[in-house]
Amino acid sequence: METLQVMVVEDHSFQRKVVVHMLQSLGVREVVQASNGKQALEKLDSRQVGALDIIFCDLEMPEMDGMEFLRHLSERQPGMSVVIMSGMDNALITSVEKMALSYGLRLLGAVEKPSSLDQIEKLLKLHQVAKRRRARTAVTPVSFMLEEVLQALREKRFEPYMQPKVNLKSGRVVGAEALARWVHPRHGVIAPFAFMSLLEQSGHMDEFTFLMLEKAAIACRQLHEKGHAISISVNLSLSSLSDTKMADKITQIVQNEGVDPHHIVLEVTESAAMTNVAEALENLARLRMRGFGLSIDDYGTGFSSMQQLTRVPFTELKIDKSFVADSANNHALRVIVESSIDMAHRLNVKSVAEGVEKQEEWDMLNEMNCDVAQGYLIAKPMDCAAFFDFCDQYQQGQNTAIPAITRDRLNV
Ligand code: C2E
Ligand code: CA
Ligand code: CA
Repeated sequence: METLQVMVVEDHSFQRKVVVHMLQSLGVREVVQASNGKQALEKLDSRQVGALDIIFCDLEMPEMDGMEFLRHLSERQPGMSVVIMSGMDNALITSVEKMALSYGLRLLGAVEKPSSLDQIEKLLKLHQVAKRRRARTAVTPVSFMLEEVLQALREKRFEPYMQPKVNLKSGRVVGAEALARWVHPRHGVIAPFAFMSLLEQSGHMDEFTFLMLEKAAIACRQLHEKGHAISISVNLSLSSLSDTKMADKITQIVQNEGVDPHHIVLEVTESAAMTNVAEALENLARLRMRGFGLSIDDYGTGFSSMQQLTRVPFTELKIDKSFVADSANNHALRVIVESSIDMAHRLNVKSVAEGVEKQEEWDMLNEMNCDVAQGYLIAKPMDCAAFFDFCDQYQQGQNTAIPAITRDRLNV
């Protein structure tokens, strides 16, 4: 803590002093004080203060409130770490937290007023840990040219990395989602955000989907041969469904690998306004008829709406991770997750929660009778060989509510 420089922006002088005192007693090297947003900005601009590490900020202040201050702060010092201090209700604080993150600030958390020494110490530690982690993982972001991505596609360098899906009640692995990774000879394992939009924009999505589907089907067959009768989920871009031949092509690829379509789930998101609705519905109906599972992905976000449920024969509803994260501590999120699970059951489809990171989320989902969980708590996506081992070990250690094995091993 001795190296930290912190600013406290709070109009209430007694409360400001209390926080300053706590920070000093925790060994913070320098604490700068401001009694409102305007004064804080003046201090930042006048260079009276050196580089700050964290800003503690009240929300309700005269002249310039906390929200406006955070906006100006993000323009001057994007990525600054902030802690929100407020006596307001949770829904409001959560909304301001989202706002701060959207402005590109690094939000350490919120403390209620009056805040305790314990709370503040935790946040300072969080800052230190995050800083160390950033220093460790700082890599030069790599961006790729289209030609390089297309060559990788021709050379079939994209691999499905498997992330387990576990039944909450039995603790059994019931499936895995195949998530695309580019195994690059120089840059290592690369996540989808670095290549997916290039493939989409250049009209190569179908070719890419076929490659992923083929590799996922091979893995599925091998798993079944090893005695793991689980299903594999593959993401399907909705744009691919405009071609009415798509269902036949998909069926062909899966059957060529000797896999029954009943063991493949296709996860579909409406990432953009759907234009060729009729063609997409024709394809989806045909795929369902052949036995494929159909999952409505990212449920609750953007275009993945209730309307989809009324017109597509879905078998699974996948609740987006933005709702699952923190749902154990946020009332509104909890209500959304619980009603989505409930709705899935009433519609006779399976409920799957993605992005399960914490034990408390697992416990809550279990209580809500959610069927399947997927997330870092169980395991991160891993290559097929690692996933085969995972299934073997998991089977041996099964019947514990949550697997003691894995977490953080075999990670990407
Ligand atoms: P998605 O379908 O929503 O997949 C879930 C994403 O959440 C994956 O990111 C996964 O690694 C990540 N994830 C899983 N558990 C957790 C967790 O506990 N916490 C957090 N924070 N994240 C978790 P990934 O692999 O980077 O994929 C991003 C997106 O790229 C996918 O989102 C999917 O839309 C797309 N994508 C990936 N592979 C394919 C593919 O083969 N075809 C298509 N069309 N899209 C793909
Ligand atoms: Ca998905
Ligand atoms: Ca998602």
